[in-house]
Amino acid sequence: MQYISTRGSAPQDKNMALDFEGATLAGLASDGGLYLPAQWPRFSEDDIRAMRGLPYPELAARIMAPFVAGSLTDDELGQLCQEVYGDFGHAAVTPLVQLNEQHWLLELFHGPTLAFKDVALQMLGRLFETFLERRGEHLTIVGATSGDTGSAAIRAVAGLERVEIFMLHPRGKVSDVQRRQMTTVRAPNVHNLAIEGSFDDAQAHVKAMFADASVTKTLNLGAVNSINWARLMAQVVYYFYAGLQLGAPDRAAAYSVPTGNFGDIFAGYVASKMGLPIEQLIVATNVNDILHRALKDGDYSTGTTTPTITPSMDIQVSSNFERLLFDVGGRDGHAMAEQMRAFEKSRAMQLTNSQREGASALFTSGRADQEETTRALQWAYRNCGQVIDPHTGVGLHAAQNADIGADVPIVTLATAHPAKFPDAVERATGVRPALPARVGDLFGREEAMVEIGGDYEAARDFVLSNASASA
Ligand SMILES: *Cc1c(COP(=O)(O)O)cnc(C)c1O
Repeated sequence: MQYISTRGSAPQDKNMALDFEGATLAGLASDGGLYLPAQWPRFSEDDIRAMRGLPYPELAARIMAPFVAGSLTDDELGQLCQEVYGDFGHAAVTPLVQLNEQHWLLELFHGPTLAFKDVALQMLGRLFETFLERRGEHLTIVGATSGDTGSAAIRAVAGLERVEIFMLHPRGKVSDVQRRQMTTVRAPNVHNLAIEGSFDDAQAHVKAMFADASVTKTLNLGAVNSINWARLMAQVVYYFYAGLQLGAPDRAAAYSVPTGNFGDIFAGYVASKMGLPIEQLIVATNVNDILHRALKDGDYSTGTTTPTITPSMDIQVSSNFERLLFDVGGRDGHAMAEQMRAFEKSRAMQLTNSQREGASALFTSGRADQEETTRALQWAYRNCGQVIDPHTGVGLHAAQNADIGADVPIVTLATAHPAKFPDAVERATGVRPALPARVGDLFGREEAMVEIGGDYEAARDFVLSNASASA
């Protein structure tokens, strides 16, 4: 499979096209765009019927096979999937739980850090190691986190030979659980930096390092944010997993997805392109609702970010939205590059007619404020006995308010374990969710992190003097 950039020219531009290995290691395309497969692989109804009842690791290998063709053999892929998904906290990996006649929860939080990001990042870590070993290279990952991504990324690469990670978090501004999930991972290739300042400051340091020749000439820098195609690919699998249980290919389901960077829900779009019948994809947002506005009125303009009880969705610019706009807008890389350049200048854009029509064919949206999120948590607990996390609550609220026929099953993606956000859950339901036994000693383990002042040079110098591999 060849990969093309959303801002480049088409596959015929051989200089821009990469294979799966190249796209995985590159992350972002050199023209600033995002990688997508040159064409969508498609399964027939019979292919899909033959997937019913497959264990998750085997299903994962079937779904991913066309995307990795040429970079991994079926045996290599099968083994990777067994290693990654054989190790989750639930035998079903992403179990589907019924709430009532119409509503279901797809639990994506049984990985090591209790959020859905593990499903893809655990895979990405192994892919990095496989490809780097092949090339005899090392990778230094530098990232900034406001919570979930950092811990999932650290757990994904801890102990790997060819990857080293420096994760910056704003000191005192991530929750205790989130910080401990990063700082109690003791591996020689993991470095936690507690930075003075905000998440945006930490993020700015990371961006500056990627642009700093004194760093890039000595280190082979990599990123793990959700712009990496391999992450999205791994997320396609659980849409099939749920859809098959609900009757695919003979019956369609709808999916409600708590959305921030538009990565998770874009994987649902990919599943539909591959032949999975999907009635509707519901983009669920909190009050940071740029996507809700874009889908309703075509108005994609940024405001200021409001902090909420669903911090992983407090995002103004959803990087992966560009992938959708590119695909539904006719895959015109030059037009996309122009549209994004204008957006980056003015922080606002109007979707074109074809983008609006293309998106509204499959997507709808819903928005939940704190009050509505709280009510969704209460409903799930009182009526179904399910304690859910606030991000999932935003999704459930949107699912309950979507205009979808009563005969269509609606699956809400449960993106985090409630014990990651115990205060908000307790305020809503009166129940303080306990951490699962497998992470239960989190508060007993010793932490390791270095505290760094607010200036960029301090962070950069720490990375330069502690990185063990060079480019
Ligand atoms: C990251 C995250 C999201 C948002 O997912 P995107 O792929 O960025 O849209 C939602 N919920 C939780 C708990 C998350 O960690």
